[in-house]
Amino acid sequence: MSGDILIVAEHLEGRLAPSTFEVVSLGRALAAASGGVVRVALFGQGVRALAEALAKLGVEVLLVEDVALAEYTGDGYVLAVRGLLESAKPRLLLAAHTAQGYDLAPGLAGALDLPLVTNAVGVRLDGSRLVVTRRLLNEKVQAEIEIASDRMIVGTVRPGSVKAASPAPGGIVVPTKVSIDASRVRMRFARIERPTVQDIDLAAADVIVSAGRGIQKKENLPLIEEFAKAVGGVVGASRPLTDMDWLPKTRQVGQSGKTVHPKLYVACGISGAMQHVAGMKDAGLIVAINTDPSAPIFEVAHVGFVADVLKLLPATLKELTG
Ligand SMILES: Cc1cc2nc3c(=O)[nH]c(=O)nc-3n(C[C@H](O)[C@H](O)[C@H](O)COP(=O)(O)OP(=O)(O)OC[C@H]3O[C@@H](n4cnc5c(N)ncnc54)[C@H](O)[C@@H]3O)c2cc1C
Repeated sequence: MSGDILIVAEHLEGRLAPSTFEVVSLGRALAAASGGVVRVALFGQGVRALAEALAKLGVEVLLVEDVALAEYTGDGYVLAVRGLLESAKPRLLLAAHTAQGYDLAPGLAGALDLPLVTNAVGVRLDGSRLVVTRRLLNEKVQAEIEIASDRMIVGTVRPGSVKAASPAPGGIVVPTKVSIDASRVRMRFARIERPTVQDIDLAAADVIVSAGRGIQKKENLPLIEEFAKAVGGVVGASRPLTDMDWLPKTRQVGQSGKTVHPKLYVACGISGAMQHVAGMKDAGLIVAINTDPSAPIFEVAHVGFVADVLKLLPATLKELTG
């Protein structure tokens, strides 16, 4: 089998997903190691400009335009990939581990009877072996999985785990005809529904000050907000606070909330349950404030204060704002 890599690009409302640039970066590195070619499949209708933007990354873009692909549907994309595979036999097919990617990848692996590995934080070639890094058991364990297969492998890559590809010369757009039998596309795109309340994007913040149950009552939230503002950050929370509606769900950090990678994460009265830690342990600098010296948060914190957050923050604010 060739060492070629095929990537399925993701786009919405005329914009390429940032995660696609990350997968391209990984694909380029793998293709360089295997001596293969990296190709990016772009499906849609009227998306030539997006194909050209992708070609600027120095890759071959297989542009498949069809009315049945105007919007993403798992069925439509599986048929389109299937069509592409009639002429190309890549070793690896990659997509981002986004809502779209983890809908598409299992559907594809199931439809074509291919091995599947999801949510990889690293993929490398070790000689002829493909080695995939995944995080298991609520992110507590990092495992390397070796995949030996003479069939194409389908994989999804966790957003944020690879640096986005930068421009490179040599890219090309190849308009590609794939016949799609619209009667086999059983899914219909209806509409995009957005959350009614537009809130801050926690995942994009450089500084997050998160409040946990240790802040005792909702009336203490303004203290956290004031502190976050003083250090140029935004307010996050542990799950009990969003469950109690003290803050919107969009502020929840953790396994069932957001995964964040800020430069600074200040955990205020948060015990450090593994479900919370799963979402913030990769922050650059973790500062924890907790009255309990044996709180698990201190196991992941770089700097720890055994202190009452309701006393330490006002005192620190006084110093900061002078
Ligand atoms: C399937 C599943 C998914 C989950 N997903 C998430 C998730 O995404 N995010 C999440 O956060 N949780 C999640 N949880 C819940 C998680 O297990 C914990 O219950 C939760 O993180 C605890 O929140 P907490 O640390 O704020 O509260 P607690 O565990 O009650 O901790 C409060 C801490 O504050 C300290 N404290 C008390 N008073 C003060 C004070 N005055 N000053 C300083 N410290 C003080 C205490 O010593 C204690 O350590 C999930 C649970 C399950 C089962």
